[in-house]
Amino acid sequence: MSEVRKVTSLVFRRPNGGQVAVSECVVQLLIRHRQIKDRDHEAGGVLLGRCIVDSENIVVDQASEPTGSDIRSRFRFFRSKSPAQRLVDDAWASSNGTMNYLGEWHSHPETHPHPSTVDLENWRWIASRAVLEQNFLLFLIVGIVSTQIWELDRHHMTVQQLQPVSFSA
Ligand SMILES: [Zn+2]
Repeated sequence: MSEVRKVTSLVFRRPNGGQVAVSECVVQLLIRHRQIKDRDHEAGGVLLGRCIVDSENIVVDQASEPTGSDIRSRFRFFRSKSPAQRLVDDAWASSNGTMNYLGEWHSHPETHPHPSTVDLENWRWIASRAVLEQNFLLFLIVGIVSTQIWELDRHHMTVQQLQPVSFSA
């Protein structure tokens, strides 16, 4: 499909001046889960990647696919814990501890997605429980046309939308 060939990585600017780059293979996975048809259900998973040393830059290298044990409907997605946790553990082990859990993604049947009140509560709940080295988490929502990312500051529990630096063609 020519549409897939045009995909490039997505880059967003963080509040602290750093950048979040979402790799091309992750963008392709996300695009496959856009809720274009009326019957398409919400999808979601975890985001894995690296914090680049001596910078505020982050690379999202990997995202998990929905699994059979997730609960999915048109307006709901509850990720089952264990398959994603295995992926996080495996990625961490095989990368000698450089590949980390960065946050979560899910889809919305919205042209340009916004987090729902339930999403925001859920993100803060995840952030309050996650055992992490980094002081932030990323939450990505795949809309029908655009993909948006929000960064949660774990010290202040504030959520800020990141500004896109470049788009896929
Ligand atoms: Zn949502």
